[in-house]
Amino acid sequence: MSDNTEEKKPLDFIRQIVADDLKTGKHKQSVTRFPPEPNGFLHIGHAKSICLNFGIAEEFGGRCNLRFDDTNPSKEEEEYVDAIKRDVEWLGFKWAGDVHYASDYFHQLYDMALELIKKGKAYVCELDAEKMREYRGTLTTPGKNSPWRDRSVEENLELFARMKEGEFAEGSHVLRAKIDMASPNFNLRDPVIYRILNAVHHRTGSEWHIYPMYDYTHCLSDMLEGITHSLCTLEFQDHRPLYDWVLDTLETPCHPQQIEFARLNLSYFITSKRKLRRLVEEKHVSGWDDPRMLTVSGIRRRGYTPASLRNFCTTIGIGRSDSRIDLSVLEDELRNDLNVNAPRRICVLDPLKLIVDNFPEDKVDMVDGKNHPQNPEMGTRPLPFTKELYIEREDFMEEPPKKYFRLGPGREVRLKYGYLVQYVSHEKDSDGNITAVHCTFDPESRGGFAVDGHKVKGTIHWVSASEGKTVTVNLYERLFSVPDPETDSEVDFIDQLNPYSIKVVTNAVAEPELLNLEPDTTVQFERMGYFCIDLKDSAPGKPVFNRAVTLRDSWKSK
Ligand code: ATP
Ligand code: MG
Repeated sequence: MSDNTEEKKPLDFIRQIVADDLKTGKHKQSVTRFPPEPNGFLHIGHAKSICLNFGIAEEFGGRCNLRFDDTNPSKEEEEYVDAIKRDVEWLGFKWAGDVHYASDYFHQLYDMALELIKKGKAYVCELDAEKMREYRGTLTTPGKNSPWRDRSVEENLELFARMKEGEFAEGSHVLRAKIDMASPNFNLRDPVIYRILNAVHHRTGSEWHIYPMYDYTHCLSDMLEGITHSLCTLEFQDHRPLYDWVLDTLETPCHPQQIEFARLNLSYFITSKRKLRRLVEEKHVSGWDDPRMLTVSGIRRRGYTPASLRNFCTTIGIGRSDSRIDLSVLEDELRNDLNVNAPRRICVLDPLKLIVDNFPEDKVDMVDGKNHPQNPEMGTRPLPFTKELYIEREDFMEEPPKKYFRLGPGREVRLKYGYLVQYVSHEKDSDGNITAVHCTFDPESRGGFAVDGHKVKGTIHWVSASEGKTVTVNLYERLFSVPDPETDSEVDFIDQLNPYSIKVVTNAVAEPELLNLEPDTTVQFERMGYFCIDLKDSAPGKPVFNRAVTLRDSWKSK
């Protein structure tokens, strides 16, 4: 169904460009790429970029590369490379051929830098960082030419070779593109394209003493891979003239088109790797994959499905103006998916003992629970009904108001899939807390139907006290307590964390079948929300469940 509606949707502006380029024959096949820097885990914003780049490849019969932009040896780690590959695959995408690395091209990039020097378009500069800033000028005043700008080609070649050999200290020399110190665009005021770094690189070790800068590397990597459309976020718009300058100056055989789109900002969260890293390093969360983090791995651990994330990206679309999407849009996509696809199970989160006085002491009556109310093909599973049960504490009230269709003095209620029961009495401890409720059951009502056809309004869920299993359940709320934790520059975003973002319930009682739940399966705990097994904190026979999302958006009404 959703496929048809998607087809009718007009193409976003990027897909329109791709479609036009294929139609006019400008390109025979679209080639896109997703180019993460391996300096952190992927977040929900990256998912948008992944769905766009890989989505175009799928929809237009093109290819999409996965390329690690690993030009910054001091910040990158192998752990991130593995996590990023896993996340892309989990989202359901497959990159074309092998994984690429910008570091694969270090030799070619070096050769092209020599070419720029020979063309008189790059020079070795010895201004220190402070002087460099001073010479760069301001928004209103043009920059000044570096005193090293007019070195001869020979001298530049020799110095650049010596930079490569590690003869100079970090920061003493850089290679700069010779463009225009008076350009209104800062990116064109002789940008640095190589710097000296004596660091160990995760793939090339200590082979290199010089490393290419992002702007220089990115366009050339795109070109070397034959990328047709290089899609990036809006902050790169002012870099596009430099992207084009490098390719034009080197007269490369292929010239990818850079197109910018708006980044995803989500309410109640942040999508900056630097800030996410702080949350991890300062231990405000348990790690990059903390289920409260909207990282791809956190979301997965939380119980989100790949389909819900992909549908979310389709729903929000691709545009050119920055906006903030409400978190409820993401949560609703998850609910839409799980409402149709998640098997139903029963777990009592706040147990109150219910004793069925007239039920035989040792009898275990296996009743059938439907796995899905609308989809009989999902089958049933046996639920043990016994004399002592647990119900939710909130499903009993001593003095219930009229519209409370659950259990209370004088009330009759349906125990879902089980029997109709009638209130008898309840017990309290010395502090006045209700400790147990007594009832009687109607043996004729197995399955929950009244033989005489009388109406029973309330239906509540239950778990056998003797056959059920005590489990731990993590109830998550939003990580931040304000919709936009990043706007106010006066306030540290850490101070905006929601102190109640996790509530751990250690005495929940689950139906036995929940002990057999497959990893990576999210189920509905009837009436309580959607939950999955936490793969990190669970032990054999001792599952820990994470709440993926509540049944309805309860946040709005708070
Ligand atoms: P940082 O937060 O450290 O600046 P980054 O978000 O730019 O990093 P990269 O690894 O460079 O992270 O991003 C890889 C790709 O994902 C880039 O093409 C980038 O434009 C895109 N991307 C990153 N954040 C978002 C976002 N919030 N929405 C859409 N695309 C994004
Ligand atoms: Mg980046």
